[in-house]
Parts: sequence; structure tokens; C-alpha cells
Amino acid sequence: MKTSWQTQMQNAFTDFQTLCDYLQLSIDDLNLSNDAAKSFPLRVPVAFAARIEKSNPNDPLLRQILPIGDELKNYDGFSDDPVGDLNAVKQTGLLHKYHGRVLLINTGACAIHCRYCFRRNFPYADLQLNKQQEMDVIHAIQNDSSIQEVILSGGDPLILNDERLARLFDEFAKISTLKRIRIHTRLPIVLPDRITDELLTILKNSPKKIIVVVHSNHPNEIDENVAKACQRLKSANVTLLNQSVLLQGVNDNVTALCELSERLFEIGVLPYYLHFLDKANGTGHFQVSEKQALALLNAFQNRLPGYLVPKLVTEQSGELAKQYLK
Ligand SMILES: *Cc1c(COP(=O)(O)O)cnc(C)c1O
Ligand code: SF4
Repeated sequence: MKTSWQTQMQNAFTDFQTLCDYLQLSIDDLNLSNDAAKSFPLRVPVAFAARIEKSNPNDPLLRQILPIGDELKNYDGFSDDPVGDLNAVKQTGLLHKYHGRVLLINTGACAIHCRYCFRRNFPYADLQLNKQQEMDVIHAIQNDSSIQEVILSGGDPLILNDERLARLFDEFAKISTLKRIRIHTRLPIVLPDRITDELLTILKNSPKKIIVVVHSNHPNEIDENVAKACQRLKSANVTLLNQSVLLQGVNDNVTALCELSERLFEIGVLPYYLHFLDKANGTGHFQVSEKQALALLNAFQNRLPGYLVPKLVTEQSGELAKQYLK
């Protein structure tokens, strides 16, 4: 019998030695840091680790998940809340920054810990909304008719079980001013078995338009199981988009970026955003300069049709939208 996604979550790698043994790597070759892992622990599902090349300390997927000494360095302009999200918190679990769209943060937990994540330093990392708080957020959305789209974010909203999501989607269905539900999730990529039949039923039966924005940074992340998960989402009439983060040593080359777009398109996903790194403490070693980012974008545009080139964006606190770099 297939292992459930919940069991797969519990079986994720969380200690250096077990992961290194699995990847046939010597722990001494990796600049690992217990201090880096103290504030934001190692966490990687086996399904994702299986796509890391064995015996390759420079693998682009490995680099995304390995707590290393570089995270302890200080970089100019880096902080704990680089995008001003904490200022946009309207009430527990609700962020309202942009016109017509709100972020609902039900959970701060994730199936994988991406070292470059700007939420790594957030106070709500382990937060789970209780039923009352969730209802309060739903009422706030109901009472503001300017809100057309609710974005389930986190953490990773697909960490919530199907029963809980069904309840949430039932409430959304009752709000007539709400047109779209968007889910920002890395789970179809890192734990494709999360796309259960029950989840598909919830999405298919919703009267709202559903958009799932997955998060993949490198073509090696997309294997057959990911392709299947995305095809299943398609079968539930979901619009599929991808967001990536531009990361030094992961995807800061035009070959990786183009291959990623092509692979995504093959499995029914359109590239949406390529995020310029948010300047969060602990992530400075992933930074790509603006000059290099623009050169990459230019080369990218010269190789692929426009619909396969994501928008290069940056998040600035106080702005009315994400800013395009061009
Ligand atoms: C990115 C983001 C959104 C969504 O922005 P889009 O440009 O619509 O994708 C909404 N709210 C917040 C706080 C965000 O950071
Ligand atoms: S899955 Fe998303 S929210 Fe979670 S650690 Fe990775 S980038 Fe951050």
C-alpha cells in the first residue's frame, strides 16, 4: 500500500547524518551548521530528497535545504521582516496589502524548509489558526466586498487536512463577492502524494475559480510524480502557475531557468513570478545582483516565447503591488 502523505511528512529527514547517509555525502564536506538549524531546522521529505543527485555536494536541490554556516553571516540591508508583512497584518491570520486580494495564513508550518525563505524568521512559524480565529477571518472577508480573491498562504496551506480545507471552502462558497481562491503551495512539488482524491473533489466542487501557484526553482525538481500531481489538479479545472526565487548556486543560469519553464509547460503549468530574493536574515548567500538578474532575464527573453518567461519581481514594503524589474 502507498504511504499516506501524512506519514511521509512525519518521515521527512530532520537530521544531518541520516540525510548525508542517504545522499552518500560526507558530513564534513558540507559546511553544515547546527546553529543555523537551531532557529530554522532541517526538514526535507524523502520524495524531494530522492531527486537530489547522490554524492554531489553542489546539487541545486540540496543547496535549497541544507543549513550551512553562511546563514550566520550578516549582510547589508538584510532584516527579519524585509517585505513589511508584519505591518500588513489586519488580524491574526489575515494580511491585506494589495487591492482586492488578501492573504489568509492558516498555518505557519511547511513540509520542507527552504533556506532562502523570508518567513524563516517570522513569529508565526509554528502558528495554527484555531476554529474561532478562522471564522473571524472569514467574517472579515465577508464584510469587505472589495475583496475578490483570497490567497491561502503560509507556511503551506496544503499542510491542512482535507476535512479542514473542505470546511474552509464551504465558507468561501457562501461569500458572493469572492470570485477567486488562490493556493500558494510547494506541496505538489515536494510531496506530490498530497494531491488526494478528496482534495480534488473539494477543488472541483467549489463554485469559485481556483488557482494553484506551485513553487519550483529548478527543472530537476519536476519528476513523474510531480507531473502526475499537476495533471490531477488540471483535471479539477484548476489554473496552474509557478513561482520561483532567483537563487545563487541554484538557478542563476539561463539554461536552468529555460529548462524549468519548458518542463513546467510540459506538465501544464505556466511560469508566473521569478522573485528577486527578499533580504531576510540568513539568506544573503543566495543573493544574485540586480545587474546579473537583469542580464539573465534578457537572455531568457531571447530564448523562449513570452508566455514561458516569468515576470521578475521584487517585493517592497509600502508599495501597492510587487515591482517589476526590467
Ligand atoms: C504576493 C502577494 C500577493 C499576491 O500578489 P499578486 O501580484 O496578485 O500575485 C498578495 N498579498 C501579499 C501580501 C503578497 O505578498
Ligand atoms: S515551502 Fe514556501 S513558505 Fe515554506 S519554507 Fe519553503 S518557501 Fe518558505
